[in-house]
Amino acid sequence: MKQFIVGLITLSLGISSCQTFKKMEKTDFNKNVVVAHRGAWKTHNIPENSIASLKEAIRIGCTGSEFDVHLTADDSLVICHNDDYQGMMIEKSTFAQLAAKPLSNGERIPTLREYLETGKSQNKTRLVLEIKKSIIDSNRTLILTRKCMDEVRRLNAQDLVVYISFDYAACLKVRELDKHANIQYLNGDIAPAKIKSDNLNGIDYHLSIFQKHPEWIVEAKKLKVDLNVWTVNKKEDLQSFLDLKFDFITTNEPELLFSLIASK
Ligand code: MG
Repeated sequence: MKQFIVGLITLSLGISSCQTFKKMEKTDFNKNVVVAHRGAWKTHNIPENSIASLKEAIRIGCTGSEFDVHLTADDSLVICHNDDYQGMMIEKSTFAQLAAKPLSNGERIPTLREYLETGKSQNKTRLVLEIKKSIIDSNRTLILTRKCMDEVRRLNAQDLVVYISFDYAACLKVRELDKHANIQYLNGDIAPAKIKSDNLNGIDYHLSIFQKHPEWIVEAKKLKVDLNVWTVNKKEDLQSFLDLKFDFITTNEPELLFSLIASK
């Protein structure tokens, strides 16, 4: 009996420490609209899409930090905006070839795993993960999609990640594979009602699209489709999307956007 009671106490202590651990892992995102585009890089001349730019976005308190993921020829997941990196086409190069050429701050080209591990050190800044379109074929975009999701799952970072893509099939694939994933579409050619009916979470369109389709802002708000806009850098444009009460504003000027928010 005594052993049984000791066993019960040990079990309940174990469960409660597990619960505490889970609680610590929960997200508690910064309550602002600022998404740093390719990290926060401009003010301190940090390379875009580097670990340092992600750390800076976290340090200054952005609610999100955006970055771009490609698949190398040998199936590694690397972070870079363009299809090419220092004269090499990423999809036609191996990870070792890319890694041999450092970024301007000495970092190696980051992997998705390193990005997620850095993001996992905190719970205030979302990781806005862009699944890039393959330059080879659309099937490879879907392979990239699946591999990104596998890595996110492996690192248990699902709650931190917002998936974005210009590729609608990639967005639908994310939804098919994870009914809880947060997904925003980038290409600017689909109305919020269709986004809603396909069970995606938001639209993340170029600012010119919202100027052309102001009715989509109303429609999105009515349908509770998240509103994100890229890439807003001018003071007057940042102010106008703040006034329109967007959920997220993606910018190369996160510090300027913070200063506008503070001056309200
Ligand atoms: Mg991007």
